[in-house]
Amino acid sequence: MIEKIEGIVINERDYSESSKILNVLTKEHGIIGVISKGCRKMKSELRSVSEKLIYGSFNLYYKQDKLSTLISVDIINSFKLIRKDIIKISYATFLLELTEQVFRQNQNLDIYELLISSLTKIDEGLDPVVVTNILELKYLDYLGVTPVLDSCVGCGSTNSIVGLSVIKGGYICNRCRTTEKILSEKSIKMIRMFYYVELSKITKIDISEQVKKEINYFLDEYYEEYTGLYLKSKTFLNNLYQIC
Ligand SMILES: [Zn+2]
Repeated sequence: MIEKIEGIVINERDYSESSKILNVLTKEHGIIGVISKGCRKMKSELRSVSEKLIYGSFNLYYKQDKLSTLISVDIINSFKLIRKDIIKISYATFLLELTEQVFRQNQNLDIYELLISSLTKIDEGLDPVVVTNILELKYLDYLGVTPVLDSCVGCGSTNSIVGLSVIKGGYICNRCRTTEKILSEKSIKMIRMFYYVELSKITKIDISEQVKKEINYFLDEYYEEYTGLYLKSKTFLNNLYQIC
């Protein structure tokens, strides 16, 4: 039976001589496997739509819990600007990888809209580092390890917050701080804003390099400590980030 299913290709692998198997995160059915037959042939009409980051309505012979077969794709957004920029592609690839892992742990389809909003914002020119950090922070809810960002995680005080503790799991105040680094006031405010902000409503981001680095560093440590996810593309990104 032919169905029209909205989704985004999160990864792809070659299959047989000329085909590919795509993993598509869909709005309603979670992650589905789709075979794109003959798409690696130069003349195939499926060639240009059988790759990572293709976001659209997939016309499929849909089979629940089995491989579906791709017929065609009506593109919703081809993320043109992302595709033109190696750094943006790298961040987008990381977001796809992260989203797949979060979904496999949680199966909550709310993350579909979060992913699409993030990619749309990167494509609109927003800083990919910041968008990535916002999404990472929001995903912590779905991984069940939200940090405390309303008050000190040690004593509950809302005054004199001076840093972030990975081990204790959130804001840390002046009195409870032991070995944690003292962070800039901006970073402390900004990370809380990242957690609460609605991604789709951001139109502009103005953040210093120092604040970006402090927040990114905290999130990397936090992910390592609590999520058990190993994300190979994040290491690559951090190297890239230091270069540029
Ligand atoms: Zn405290």
